[in-house]
Amino acid sequence: MKDNDCIFCKIVDGEIPSTVVYENDHVLAFEDLNPMMPTHVLIIPKNHYKNIIDDIPADEMANLMAAIKDVARIKGIDESGFRVIINTNDDACQTVHHVHVHVLGGAKMNEGNPSLDA
Ligand code: 5GP
Ligand code: ZN
Repeated sequence: MKDNDCIFCKIVDGEIPSTVVYENDHVLAFEDLNPMMPTHVLIIPKNHYKNIIDDIPADEMANLMAAIKDVARIKGIDESGFRVIINTNDDACQTVHHVHVHVLGGAKMNEGNPSLDA
């Protein structure tokens, strides 16, 4: 399940290089190209789904969510804290239409700020 025009599918295939943080058979986690925080990792399913409201099988969703704690531990932000964001469609400024989880941390964030601007 790939989309030939999708940059994140190309990252999964290795056509576009990325700095991999964590990987298993189902998901890939890599450093965001333009980090908004000291830690900014994207987690994606290896299969292509447009966003979180696409028809994502429950096991794929579970694998995506389970990877959050692995990434947080690897990056050393599991105890200090982190924020998870899944931008979906226009109002949330989703720019890459392959579902992805932003894991942001490494510094104190504003309370309740829904923006990525820390
Ligand atoms: P969105 O706005 O869709 O939630 O987030 C897309 C994210 O993908 C942005 O934070 C952007 O910096 C990141 N991004 C876009 N293109 C690339 C790329 O080619 N490589 C990496 N590592 N990140 C990318
Ligand atoms: Zn894709």
